[in-house]
Amino acid sequence: MASNKIPHATAKRLPIYYRYLHFLSDAGKQRVSSTELADAVKVDSATIRRDFSYFGALGKRGYGYDVESLLAFFRKTLKQDKLTNVALIGVGNLGHALLNYNFHQSNNVRISAAFDINEDITGTIQSGVPVYHMDDMKEQLTVQQIEIVILTVPAPVAQEATNELVEVGVKGILNFTPLRITVPSTVRVQNVDLTNELQTLIYFLDKFGSHKEND
Ligand code: ATP
Repeated sequence: MASNKIPHATAKRLPIYYRYLHFLSDAGKQRVSSTELADAVKVDSATIRRDFSYFGALGKRGYGYDVESLLAFFRKTLKQDKLTNVALIGVGNLGHALLNYNFHQSNNVRISAAFDINEDITGTIQSGVPVYHMDDMKEQLTVQQIEIVILTVPAPVAQEATNELVEVGVKGILNFTPLRITVPSTVRVQNVDLTNELQTLIYFLDKFGSHKEND
C-alpha cells in the first residue's frame, strides 16, 4: 500500500470512518453502502469512494462495503491493532484534563507517562499516570518506547521543550500550545489550537450566521 501518497485530507478522515465502522460492527451490522456511510459521517459519497480508492478497491458495486473487513483494514492502517503509548509534557490545567480524559473512546492509545519541571507534581500519579521530571524524559521514553508526545507547556517555553523532545528522538508532537513550533523535517507536528478554533467559530458565526460552510 502506497501510504505516502495518501492526501492529508483523506488521512484526516480515516479516524472518522473508523469510528463509525466500529459503531456499525458493535451494532451487529454486516454491510454498509457508501450512501449510508456518507449520511452518517457527513462526507459525500464520491469523496468516500475516492478516499477508499487510495487503498485499493474495498467495496463491491451493489453490495456496499463489508463492515468487518473494512474495519479490520482501517484498524491496521491506523495502527489501532496495537497499543500506542504516548507521553504528555506539561501537567497544567489542560494537561490534567487530557490525563483525565486519556482517550477512553479508544482502547489503543493511552497516555502512559507525563513530564513536568514542577517538583510539586513530579513523582506523583495523576489520573493513573505517573508524572516524571523532564530530566528523566529520555530514559522513560526509551524504556516505554514512546515516540509521540502531547505538548501542553506554557507557550513561552514551547520551543525550548520541543528542542528537548527532538533531541531525545520524539517523532510526533500534538501541539496544544498556541506557538507554531519549529522542528526538523524528521518530526511531524499536528497543531490543536483551541483558542484559534473558538475565534474562528465566532468569526464565522458573526460573518455568515449558522449557515454551514464546507471545510
Ligand atoms: P494550561 O491551562 O495552559 O495548562 P496552566 O496555567 O495550568 O496552563 P502553565 O503555566 O501553562 O499552566 O503550565 C503548564 C504546565 O507546564 C505546568 O505544570 C508547568 O509546571 C509545566 N512546565 C512549564 N515549563 C515546562 C518545561 N520547560 N517543561 C515541562 N513542563 C513545563
